[in-house]
Amino acid sequence: MANAVTTGPVEMADGLFRVDWAIGTKPMASYLLVGDDVALIDAGIATTPAKVYRPAIEALGRRVADVGMLVITHADADHIGGTHAARGLFPNLMLACHHDDLHWASDPATLTAERYDGFTPYGLRYDQETFDRLASWMGPRESIDTVLRAGERLPLGNANLTVHHVPGHSPGHICLHEPARDYALIGDAVFGRSQLDTDGGHLAAPPYDDVAAYRGSIATLRRLAPELMLGCHYPPMRGDEVTAFLDASEAWVDDATAFTADLLAGAREPVSLARAIEAANPVLGPYANPGELRWALRAHLEALVADRTARHVEREGIILWEATV
Ligand SMILES: [Zn+2]
Repeated sequence: MANAVTTGPVEMADGLFRVDWAIGTKPMASYLLVGDDVALIDAGIATTPAKVYRPAIEALGRRVADVGMLVITHADADHIGGTHAARGLFPNLMLACHHDDLHWASDPATLTAERYDGFTPYGLRYDQETFDRLASWMGPRESIDTVLRAGERLPLGNANLTVHHVPGHSPGHICLHEPARDYALIGDAVFGRSQLDTDGGHLAAPPYDDVAAYRGSIATLRRLAPELMLGCHYPPMRGDEVTAFLDASEAWVDDATAFTADLLAGAREPVSLARAIEAANPVLGPYANPGELRWALRAHLEALVADRTARHVEREGIILWEATV
């Protein structure tokens, strides 16, 4: 059941509260920054403002009129789906995201067409059930009021956050770091070796679009080295857990780099994205939902094309890959 709240609001640091909830077996965490005003991190799905945020705000003894800002970490259905509902519920709301995700964050139709339905050239398309599920998560389009830039200072609640650009999962993904209290709100910037279900099972591979950008974001988070690292689909991480998670994230990228190079080197014919997924799942996973390997594998195969160790081959209108040497 969507929006089944399991805990919260729990105070993670001075003025920072977390609510754990779930969409079916997909774990979700939402954050509130509370001070003179209240700020929200990510909109969740269409029902999240009413079902998750409003009860949390009331539990904290605050009013919907206290909510000043909702910051979107990145444009995905489970992070932007509630923007329109939030606008209706919170009368003083400002919506903010990074410039590079603005066109997706402000329009679910564009997000669906360009991001989720972007695999047609590679011969893959999500089934109708998946498109219907994503559509059910997102409300109508809603404009974004403010564009955020890397390095910007953002006073929210009682926090004084710094905006960091951590692309890879999406082009305009951001992380918010609070230097004084040493926590970082990282959204879905990094994924370790797997997306997890609510029982901790390996649901799906790390979904990133750009290998170099994702590696760069792991490095950015290493430099920040927050004592407390808070994402939207993982338990809170502290100290050594932060380092271990970043190590695991990078090791998976290394494994996927080696896997895709070996796959093309050993292939007797050009490799399709579907074939790459089939071959990768037992090696890089296994995952309950192997189809989500499409994101990282496309990124890695395209990285090989960019460094000229692979090239595209078109067969029956579908892009395949083959090694150049
Ligand atoms: Zn997410």
